[in-house]
Amino acid sequence: MPVRAWVKNTIYDHTPGLVRRGPPNAKRVALTFDDGPDHLTTSYLDLLDELGVPATFFVIGARAEANPALVREYLRRGHQVAGHGFDHMRFPKLTRRELLEQITRTDRALGFQITGRSWVRPPHGSIDAASLVTLLTNGYKVAMWSLDSCDYGTDDAGKVVEACGPDRVSAGEVLLFHEGQQWTLDALPRIITGLHAAGYECVTMHDLLAA
Ligand SMILES: [Zn+2]
Repeated sequence: MPVRAWVKNTIYDHTPGLVRRGPPNAKRVALTFDDGPDHLTTSYLDLLDELGVPATFFVIGARAEANPALVREYLRRGHQVAGHGFDHMRFPKLTRRELLEQITRTDRALGFQITGRSWVRPPHGSIDAASLVTLLTNGYKVAMWSLDSCDYGTDDAGKVVEACGPDRVSAGEVLLFHEGQQWTLDALPRIITGLHAAGYECVTMHDLLAA
């Protein structure tokens, strides 16, 4: 089996520090948003405020560096912010040194002190054994997801709503969305209302895993 497939099939569910979902014993789920900040970030934040839902934003370091006010705004409104690479390059294509530079430059752009553990979501969800080891041995937790809204493969809000219907969600789920997309924004009220009606509480990924 190719190494990447082996990692995907074998390590993902069994490696401490690589997380796809939270515990199944409470009806809590985490909404996560990749690739910001951008021109729609404020609209996403306003909508989440209206719905009273905290979320986790995995931001691209270069965009965070260019938009420090938006980074502060995520935090001011009670959301979790973590890195998604400095310029969205696939981690397995990088040397160990290049990978660490991607992560630490992003941490600097986010204003984090480089102490303790941080979360990282690999761009494209792409990771192999070497990049996984580099991240884990440098104190990072790797944040994957368990339910993909597939909002990058459509511009139809209805399809995004359907992919995240309460019938497809279970306790502990980590849902993957992207920033910068009007159709994702349009889908969110229906998704969140549906989750609430089914008894789910939405929390940050950090809080989901802290339970
Ligand atoms: Zn991404």
